[in-house]
Amino acid sequence: MQVWVGLTTSDLTGLEHSPGLSFRAQSGTMQVCQGGRVLFDTASLRVHSADQVLSAEGKKVSLREPVILKTAGRTSAFYIDNLKRAGIKGAPFYRGDIRIAKSGNKVRVSLFLDLDSYLAGVLAAEMPASYHIEALKGQALCARTYALHPRLPHDLDKVNVCDSFLCCQYFAGHSAALDARIDKAISATASEVLVFDDKPILALFSSNAGGHTENYENCFSDPLTGAFPPPPLPYLKGVAEGRFAVAAGGEDFLRYLWGNRQNKTFSADAWSGKFHFLHSFSSESLEAHMHHVAEKLAGDRESAPFVVPASSGFGRILGLRVLKRGVSGVAIELSVDTDKGNWIFKKELVIRKLFENADLKLKRLNSARIFFDQDFQAAPRGAKVKTLRSLTVYGLGYGHGVGFQQQGAQGHALKGLDYRAILSHYFNGVNIEKV
Ligand SMILES: [Zn+2]
Repeated sequence: MQVWVGLTTSDLTGLEHSPGLSFRAQSGTMQVCQGGRVLFDTASLRVHSADQVLSAEGKKVSLREPVILKTAGRTSAFYIDNLKRAGIKGAPFYRGDIRIAKSGNKVRVSLFLDLDSYLAGVLAAEMPASYHIEALKGQALCARTYALHPRLPHDLDKVNVCDSFLCCQYFAGHSAALDARIDKAISATASEVLVFDDKPILALFSSNAGGHTENYENCFSDPLTGAFPPPPLPYLKGVAEGRFAVAAGGEDFLRYLWGNRQNKTFSADAWSGKFHFLHSFSSESLEAHMHHVAEKLAGDRESAPFVVPASSGFGRILGLRVLKRGVSGVAIELSVDTDKGNWIFKKELVIRKLFENADLKLKRLNSARIFFDQDFQAAPRGAKVKTLRSLTVYGLGYGHGVGFQQQGAQGHALKGLDYRAILSHYFNGVNIEKV
């Protein structure tokens, strides 16, 4: 099976590239093709404008029709100069054929390759190759299933998936030397995908669930309608990662997990440093940053539907309250009470972004499975209410925590579970079938 992968811009946010990208054959030359014909061979080629590509020798090709690049070997292999990928030094490297197509005053670049070759790149970017082979196999099934059923459909982009972790799963190209362990995880599970009701599932995964995974509807909005919460998915239900003495869901559960963070066998994912986190904010730092971030989130097209601002603006912060939690204790609704009114923030990613703070070099919280210690100061003379002196945020896990979690899978694999048992733990009632 083969797939089309849309390559996003260096910031991983869009599929439309400005002119300037340059394609270089790994060795020898590449064939420049258009309309099913080979036009000429060259060692490198640059996108000169949205209307034209230019070879190293100065040969021009119009982009009235898409241009396809192939190399002579069994598998085409290219470097793309002027494209950056987080975690990759220098120009990223891709195996597969490349399509360059005009799109307005920009171009779109897509890669056509074997599904399993794409999976090798995804696994290399998403999970350390040193992980247990059963955990790697579990990730391989998630990645293969995700490629067949991404959360956001890419049909209109004429690709199956894109390469960004902000939208699909991370694919930062191939390494020149393929890792044998990753290869083995993919070939040992060849063609296997996760299905429910005879259809590929939405195989979500994250890094560390901090002791308990979460229900789909508590973390994601509907990809087509934007509704939050979306209809639940029967196979994406939160599960405990250990035998716990406190019932899941409330702040007391999160405090209990936090209190046991040093016990590395307490939960399948507690061995990792990503199991917990902590940030302390002074009131000055919160006041300096949170109102800007809140207004930015309220004005941003993607987050605005999940922010309910107070009508008179964002005032001095009086305190924070989690209004609603999911089955894992994840914050679904957070109120920031200010002296100009209360602001409500919904959905885990929006809540995580609210804590962006330049003083702490913090872009977002690792997760929204959080609870607070708040220190208040007495109301100054003339003022009616107490304001916040400091805030400590305690958190568990890394990522949204829905579906498969990589570090929990590693913990289960080390205890002897195979990938089938691991996957049926994370995806309730799902079968493994061959496509
Ligand atoms: Zn995507």
